[in-house]
Amino acid sequence: MKSCRHAVAIVVAIVALVATAADDQRFSIYTPHTSYSVTLVDRDGRQYVPLFEVLAPLGSTAAHQDGDKWKLKFNNTESEFKSGKNKAKVNRKNIDLSAPFVIDNGRALVPLRSLVSVLARLVPDSLEQREPAHRLFIGGVITELKTEFQSAGPKLVLRFSAPVNPSISTEPGRLRMVFTREPVIAAAGTQAFDDKTIRAASFSEHDGIAELTINSGAPLLATFGEQNRTITIAPVPQVRAQAPPPAATTPPVPAPAPTPEAASPSAPQGRAPATHVRATVVIDPGHGGDDRGAALSGSLAEKDVTLAWARRLRAALEQKGIPASLLREGDTSLSFDQRAALTNAARPLAFITLHAGTTGAGVRIYTAHLGETAPRAGSFLPWDAAQASFLDSSRALAGSVAAEMTKRSIPVGTAPVLLRPLNNVAASAVAIEVMPLAGNVASLMDATYQQSICAAIADGIAGVSKPAPQPGAGAAR
Ligand SMILES: [Zn+2]
Repeated sequence: MKSCRHAVAIVVAIVALVATAADDQRFSIYTPHTSYSVTLVDRDGRQYVPLFEVLAPLGSTAAHQDGDKWKLKFNNTESEFKSGKNKAKVNRKNIDLSAPFVIDNGRALVPLRSLVSVLARLVPDSLEQREPAHRLFIGGVITELKTEFQSAGPKLVLRFSAPVNPSISTEPGRLRMVFTREPVIAAAGTQAFDDKTIRAASFSEHDGIAELTINSGAPLLATFGEQNRTITIAPVPQVRAQAPPPAATTPPVPAPAPTPEAASPSAPQGRAPATHVRATVVIDPGHGGDDRGAALSGSLAEKDVTLAWARRLRAALEQKGIPASLLREGDTSLSFDQRAALTNAARPLAFITLHAGTTGAGVRIYTAHLGETAPRAGSFLPWDAAQASFLDSSRALAGSVAAEMTKRSIPVGTAPVLLRPLNNVAASAVAIEVMPLAGNVASLMDATYQQSICAAIADGIAGVSKPAPQPGAGAAR
């Protein structure tokens, strides 16, 4: 019995350690050029920071160990630290550390409480350490958050002074937004709203992140706007009960659908039954031709990045036995209506439109946001709402892909968004925006990086699109 209790205690301790490693030990640093996190190290109950890792992104950094001495060159300065000593010479001045300097496997560790006094001798810019939150702001960089509650709607508009890319998670009664790479600052505490749906918003900073939690009485949607400078939080629109399914989805402009039955009344209405196996995945490399997309760097256009990712994703899907096709194989212009018409003609298993961005890390997965599509008079299913009856399966697809990202520790966020041609696609449809690795834009063209994310997307698609079992196949039982 005794050993049993012991085993339980060990399990609890391990769980606590894992949680600690993931969150509590992160220390984030924000500068006007970059933001990054280092992992804090515990020594004798005190928190230490790896000094080299803090300095390297800030300037030219070189160090070498000489016995118990650690010599540092940073930009034009020289410093010397000694293992086990509280005194150090930083840029020719003696300073007192709050605890002894530590060299651990060649890593130089300074007490967290002394970090600012060390940096102040090395970095000319202003420093503001938000100590309990484990966040350090260099050079006055700050992204201000202002919230504005509008009772008509209701909606909560979040305005940021610079673009943001938080990860967003929802659970019953709560929407949580976490900012890891952005120096987001707001008044801490809880703002209560006199509303049954959007009840309150609480801002806090801790463990190297900023967090905004919105308490609600109904499911909420977050929609990005103004190039990621605003996020609007509103209740999920109620799906109106509609008259018997209207006729075909008809594009408002003639589109070059290769098969005429594409937009015919035989096109499926509503969710396809499980036995209806849809063969291919249609991949849309966003932009193309005259539309270059975002200029990711001086030489890298988004349209070229999306095509490279699309090819990689097709290979990853085909490797799993899922056929896939691209909407464009080269640098061609396609309108949104053409993209949707071609996709609907293929009656695909799923539709993935690919984009690339530069703010944040990992991937963002979007599903269509149909809430603001005005219902149209007439008996035809509006082209703009072709996605409506597939929204549940699109959300399931987004969730499945997001889960695969999380399994691989790839940062991921999901959000509904007004993004064409998602609204016009009559199939499970998501947009996936890929961000560079560690802020390095060139990584978007890195084969290994593309491969790891495309494998996760392919697994996510496979996870929701298991074809009906073939008769006779699998004689296991
Ligand atoms: Zn794009």
